[in-house]
Amino acid sequence: MKVLVAVKRVVDYNVKVRVKADQTGVETANVKMSMNPFDEIAVEEALRMQEAGTVSETVAVSMGVQQCQETIRTALAMGMDRGIHVLTDQELQPLAVAKLLAALVEREKPDMVILGKQAIDDDSNQTGQMLAGLLGWSQGTFASEIKFADGKADVTREVDGGLETISLTLPSVVTTDLRLNEPRYASLPNIMKAKKKPIDQVSVEDLGVDASPRLVTLKVEEPPARRGGGKVADVAELVDKLKNEAGVI
Ligand code: AMP
Repeated sequence: MKVLVAVKRVVDYNVKVRVKADQTGVETANVKMSMNPFDEIAVEEALRMQEAGTVSETVAVSMGVQQCQETIRTALAMGMDRGIHVLTDQELQPLAVAKLLAALVEREKPDMVILGKQAIDDDSNQTGQMLAGLLGWSQGTFASEIKFADGKADVTREVDGGLETISLTLPSVVTTDLRLNEPRYASLPNIMKAKKKPIDQVSVEDLGVDASPRLVTLKVEEPPARRGGGKVADVAELVDKLKNEAGVI
């Protein structure tokens, strides 16, 4: 079995993001960038499948600027076999990423594509679902467990009411939730080995995809500053405040 894992380069989760002065987006210049945390979980899961002997080849794909190669190298240092970089300076929205991934699926013919459930920069939670739709494949989103049995993948999903387990026919698209696994750190020898692993570079044009944005960002703003809380003496005062200050009852 062959598995493709999508890894996005995003602002590191420890960074306090700041809105650009012109309100067109968030500041990314001179900001630490890392692999999207849910994608680290996706890489870890693919590696565990390979170590269990279910998967024979693992491929990491990232799309965007030249520095996405660093994100791919991180996946290779964790243990993935090779990388594909779709190089573009263009803004890529989830539909464009899904179309590009679908084109790569045509080339690579994987049995499963694993993505994060969402990217922590745009919080879209769309790409995996769109990819499954475009390919007409089964999908298991928000996976907290993946097991293989009888040529199918049983995916346990984190849903509102608890855990749901579904059986997917392959090929399929799976998106990872936080509790699926704990990603490993890359060891120094593996970081060295990763430098020699191949990364193919392709362009959006090579893949014949129209990746132009469909959504326009009107404005990005800081959330309103939190106001301090207060204590009320009794229920009567609470009701009065809810009625006359907050206007919620
Ligand atoms: P989103 O739908 O934007 O929240 O992203 C969901 C998942 O799609 C991410 O966790 C990644 O696995 C994948 N993805 C989104 N954008 C990219 C990108 N530019 N390169 C590689 N993978 C991506």
